[in-house]
Amino acid sequence: MDCGSSLKGRSDKKFCSDFCRNNFHNRQNQLTNNYVRRINYVLRKNRRILERLNEHGLDKVQRNALVREGFDFEYVTSVVQNGKDTTLYFCYEHGYQVLENDFVELIRKNDNLWFV
Ligand SMILES: [Zn+2]
Repeated sequence: MDCGSSLKGRSDKKFCSDFCRNNFHNRQNQLTNNYVRRINYVLRKNRRILERLNEHGLDKVQRNALVREGFDFEYVTSVVQNGKDTTLYFCYEHGYQVLENDFVELIRKNDNLWFV
């Protein structure tokens, strides 16, 4: 039983009462909402960092500069293969591609890239 009370009646019954069932589902929803909220926060923060560091457009910065700002490379909103060996990673309209020697080039979706 979800609440720990002992089971009466059908053995496939998971909840002792509506209260108990609602409690369970509210808790599940809350966990889901917290999870989604946390990831949304990371994505928006990533986007802000890319925007801030890309002052002039197509700025080249060290990967470490992103790390120092708290960029989380695990979360992006889209990954775009651009040609044979270029991969673009975006957080919304801001993104980057990996260059040699631990540099990245910051990019912003323009009209040409908007739909990729
Ligand atoms: Zn219960």
